[in-house]
Amino acid sequence: MYKAKAYSAAGASSLLASDTINRRESTATDVQIEILFCGICHSDLHTARNEWADVMPTVYPVVPGHEIVGKVTEVGAAVTKYKLGDIVGVGCLVDSDHTCPSCQVDMEQFCPEGVFTYNSPDKHLGGVTFGGYSESIVVDESFVLNVPANLDLAGVAPLLCAGITTYSPLRHWGVAEGKKVGVVGIGGLGHMGVKFARAFGAHVVVFTTSPSKIEDALRLGAHEVVNSRNADEMAAHVGSFDFILDTVSADHDINAYINLLGMDGNLTLVGAPEKPLPVSAFGLLFGRKSLSGSLIGGIAETQEMLDFCGEHGITADVEVIRIQQVNEAYERMLRSDVKYRFSIDMASLKDE
Ligand SMILES: [Zn+2]
Ligand SMILES: [Zn+2]
Repeated sequence: MYKAKAYSAAGASSLLASDTINRRESTATDVQIEILFCGICHSDLHTARNEWADVMPTVYPVVPGHEIVGKVTEVGAAVTKYKLGDIVGVGCLVDSDHTCPSCQVDMEQFCPEGVFTYNSPDKHLGGVTFGGYSESIVVDESFVLNVPANLDLAGVAPLLCAGITTYSPLRHWGVAEGKKVGVVGIGGLGHMGVKFARAFGAHVVVFTTSPSKIEDALRLGAHEVVNSRNADEMAAHVGSFDFILDTVSADHDINAYINLLGMDGNLTLVGAPEKPLPVSAFGLLFGRKSLSGSLIGGIAETQEMLDFCGEHGITADVEVIRIQQVNEAYERMLRSDVKYRFSIDMASLKDE
């Protein structure tokens, strides 16, 4: 065991503050990583404030962060995939049972024994796992990702959650050239959805309630932008979409979007509104449409996503901050006052 600097929250109403945590010594299959950048995900805020108490109650102190990029500083004796100095990533998962039906098909995110990067039981040290708001982390090599050398590392960090969360359903539902794809909401998730859908060759339409985001949506790769509050603009697209990615986590009318799907079209939710969303069955019946959800992606697919980003020069649009600004960043994230993800320069933790 060794001590590592970190930022943690001591309780649901506490601000994040400088702390010292325990990390395990590397086992034979572990990789020790010096963290260079960590993205800020909405899940970090929900967990820090125990807003998912019913599903995943927070154990304090909590060290959030699951969009991790860093440099390998130590490898266990049996590690084969990584060597000292490699630039690597860690996302939302750090372990699984490797044997269940989900793991057997590379869908570790659905493993009943899956271990999340923070606030999951830690089988090595007891207590819970600590995430990426820290100077280092120790992770089994099978949950460590290779980061393409050509990408800006601050912008790579959010790929580990926001990137794979949008890449996976777009791939699963066959988004490609000749398909018409909608992306609802332009935030941390939505802006990545637009970049991927465009890179896959689809015709991309962005739905937003903020006219101020129109120009930016086009810059990110949208072919068209629809003001979802304008009934005429919405009506012009009825029955025409192959796939719609809905990234909105606030309460909203999904029937308006189901209406825009064509035959066999699919709407996938990647946001998690607090209250159940009403769905009109008729909207699905006519046209054999479907409504789905999606949660991050498995390790193999996350590596595929990173490799794709390397080939196509794709990163998240980030605002780099110091760890000392994290509480202010949470407040700004709640106001959607960021384009489009905060990425913490973890070198700033050395000043604590
Ligand atoms: Zn996340
Ligand atoms: Zn499993």
